[in-house]
Amino acid sequence: MSNSHHSPYSTRIGDRELRPESLMMSYGYRPELSEGALKCPIFQTSTFVFNSAEEGKAFFEIVYGRRQQGPGEELGLIYSRLNNPDLEILEERLALWDGAEKSAVFESGMAAISTTLLTFLRPGDVVVHSEPVYGGTDFLLKQILPQFGIRPVGFSARDSRKALEQLLLDREIRRHLAMIYTETPANPTNDLVDIAHCAQMAQEHSRPDRRVLVAVDNTFLGPLWQQPLKHGADLVLYSATKYIGGHSDVIAGVCLGSQELMGQVKTMRTILGTMAGPWTGWLLLRSLETLKLRMVAQTENARQVADFLASHPKVERVYYLGHIQPDHPQYDIYRKQCTGPGGMISVDIVGGEAEAFRFLNHLRLFHLAVSLGSTESLAQHPATMTHSDVDPEERQEMGITEKMVRLSIGVEDAEDLIADLEQALAAV
Ligand SMILES: *Cc1c(COP(=O)(O)O)cnc(C)c1O
Repeated sequence: MSNSHHSPYSTRIGDRELRPESLMMSYGYRPELSEGALKCPIFQTSTFVFNSAEEGKAFFEIVYGRRQQGPGEELGLIYSRLNNPDLEILEERLALWDGAEKSAVFESGMAAISTTLLTFLRPGDVVVHSEPVYGGTDFLLKQILPQFGIRPVGFSARDSRKALEQLLLDREIRRHLAMIYTETPANPTNDLVDIAHCAQMAQEHSRPDRRVLVAVDNTFLGPLWQQPLKHGADLVLYSATKYIGGHSDVIAGVCLGSQELMGQVKTMRTILGTMAGPWTGWLLLRSLETLKLRMVAQTENARQVADFLASHPKVERVYYLGHIQPDHPQYDIYRKQCTGPGGMISVDIVGGEAEAFRFLNHLRLFHLAVSLGSTESLAQHPATMTHSDVDPEERQEMGITEKMVRLSIGVEDAEDLIADLEQALAAV
């Protein structure tokens, strides 16, 4: 018999709508289906047993879209490439943060991005994208998609409204536009792209037979400090390897959006086989319980670290959203779109590559590694590491110079982090 007193899908107590952080430990999980276990077990199984042949037939009819799910009819479990309890519960919980109808989890951020782009782009289409974007995404857009007849056209994240409108004056781009893809804040410069403006442009260039979609990679600020669906985006993407996973111990990705769009993404995911496994799903369920705690602590630490860096004579410039002032050209975007500055800081060290390397080589508490968003603080050199594949001229234009270092701030003690930065800067 059930020992739970309420539906696992209830999000209210009386009139009160519960916040996601209160629901991360229980939402969508029914202990009575798992021997009363408080925690969701790892369903490490490839396949599921049907109660009868008729039931198996019914599940397949629904999952392959041969008929609609009846009222009150549950789609049962079939095979772990199609569905698995760890993934289903995780997807329900992830959707709460972004206010999405549905989400889909993948075995990497790149699996989420590539599966989503392959779902919605077809030969002849144009995908307009902000620059810079994550290196893997850049390669997908510029090297892989053109082999399928899909044309990428970039616009600068620095002055994005003007740059995007300029591009859309081109008749050929307008005629074939299928998607506006953006990553904001941009990595590693923290430039902001106006999501609502992208949505407005997409709407203006949609045709009755073809809706232009807006997809936003929300890895840097989401889901706590930026929720793109609320600003008109159609699809939100994550490398869950970063803040969502948060412990540098798992690679995973997420796509979120409306039921209609996510149905298409999930069909593609089933066929490409890019879904996450149950163990990855379970790790992310665990991570979600502390997502807010971690992101708040990282953001608090970053503020102290950024203030210290801004006042240091060996630091030429600090790129940090918490320092955006009203006279900054992207101030209004920050105010309407972001609810916090997050934990990513880039700095220009006085000098060049040699000085930046000396600084990196002397760090002791910070780890010298790419990736971001985890409990431990990380430091890396974009020009020779994460962005070394970008054309050198384009890299300069994006402001990614030899003197730039990118920091991801963790949950350590802020004064310990500052002590580490201070001694490493002294060595420069
Ligand atoms: C890391 C990252 C990705 C790729 O995610 P993986 O999990 O490494 O596949 C995509 N976008 C952004 C912004 C990232 O930081």
